[in-house]
Amino acid sequence: MKIVIAASEVVPFAKTGGLADVGGALPMALEKRGEEVIVVMPGYKKVHNLKNPEVKKLRDGVSISKIGKGIKVYFIDNDEYFNRDELYGDKTGDYKDNLDRFSYFCRKTLELLKEIKFKPDIIHCHDWQSALIPVYLKNTLAEEPFFKDTKTVFTIHNIGYQGLFPQEELSKTGLDWGVFNMDMLEYYGKINILKGGIVFSDLINTVSETYSKEIQTKEFGFGMEGILNKRRDSVSGIINGLDYSIWDPSTDKSIFKKFSLKTAEDKYENKEGLQKVCKLPAKRTVPVFGIVSRLAQQKGFDILAEGIDAICRLDVQVVILGTGDLKYHQLLEEMVKKYPKVISLSLKFDDTLAHRIYAGSDIFLMPSKYEPCGLGQMISLRYGTVPLVFKTGGLADTVNDKNGFIFDKYSKDELIKTIKKAITAYKNSTKWQQLMQRGMKCNFSWAESAKKYVELYEKAKAK
Ligand code: ADP
Repeated sequence: MKIVIAASEVVPFAKTGGLADVGGALPMALEKRGEEVIVVMPGYKKVHNLKNPEVKKLRDGVSISKIGKGIKVYFIDNDEYFNRDELYGDKTGDYKDNLDRFSYFCRKTLELLKEIKFKPDIIHCHDWQSALIPVYLKNTLAEEPFFKDTKTVFTIHNIGYQGLFPQEELSKTGLDWGVFNMDMLEYYGKINILKGGIVFSDLINTVSETYSKEIQTKEFGFGMEGILNKRRDSVSGIINGLDYSIWDPSTDKSIFKKFSLKTAEDKYENKEGLQKVCKLPAKRTVPVFGIVSRLAQQKGFDILAEGIDAICRLDVQVVILGTGDLKYHQLLEEMVKKYPKVISLSLKFDDTLAHRIYAGSDIFLMPSKYEPCGLGQMISLRYGTVPLVFKTGGLADTVNDKNGFIFDKYSKDELIKTIKKAITAYKNSTKWQQLMQRGMKCNFSWAESAKKYVELYEKAKAK
């Protein structure tokens, strides 16, 4: 199959979140399966500052690089739109011309495909920034013979971000007013680009099965539940893979001692090392709870904040790495003053420490209120660190009571109850080892997810 991945961020070129990991890892996994795939993304300033991989100018307005064995990555260049420090906005908020920027990206992507004569079976679009591609294909380009057999798949990575603009800006997209109605791009008097992607793509998916169902409800749909419900036969979920070349305790250079399923005992050297760097007492029998996260309500910090004092009074140690809302920074700093031998706090982004927490903790706390996919729980499973999660989205699809602890009523009391359950379980060393080992055997590889994407592409092609 000929596949185009169109995304606004792609590892290793530009990243603000999980979308970039998918943008980089999925094409490589597809290539390994023998698919013919190219990638198109905007040529941001940071793309052109990269030394490795090299990015070369192809012609005015287009640059090119390569990932994997031979995947061409094309960059849509435009000094006015993309030669900026950030991808979507700065300290003052979103860039005001984001609709110009990303409709330009979508239009030029389609023009480029014609120019290089890459006639795709599938254009796989991600989030609102590339959602105008299916809209153009079904409207302004509906009669274009070049795209006659092209189908689109649209992946929603987080439905909270929709690309909302005042209706006066419609002309910037080049679309006519025919698309501005409540069954198409209109949302309460505004232009909603994500909605356009939902309406006009051939198939829609999200980054876990549970999240694909949750977003069809009022609680999680951010207003898109109605339109998604109308297209429910075309909505599905595929969990993201994990990059095991980065997240593998048997090859991880950042941790104190490498270990694997066969040498799981060596995990305790990592626990000792972690306790040392975090200035916590070296106690092997006390369970260490690790957190690596944005400190935000979405990640469960509202119930964690309510419960943290009570948690610190249990026989535990808590190691927290993250940055985020100031109110959580302040509250946690108070807790460190109150319980210096129990809680360690690192308010920063630190990749090495993150690896050490995944390797050295006994339990990984991730009580997210909603979680489209989530990486932390998949990483911790591989490192024999038993995840404790709220039953939502990707967490519900990867953690169960055979490999972790899961609670299904979102409250401080349920969180603490589940933490106590984990502490009791930890005391039974034989059973705990079995629990760890079951987790370490879980496999969330990109190979598996790419296989499911190919099946999804086949389904779109048959439409
Ligand atoms: P998000 O919603 O933030 O994308 P995920 O669980 O999908 O949540 O991915 C978060 C990733 O970022 C994980 O790999 C996690 O280890 C990493 N991470 C988050 N905060 C930090 C931090 N302060 N330092 C290092 N890594 C972090």
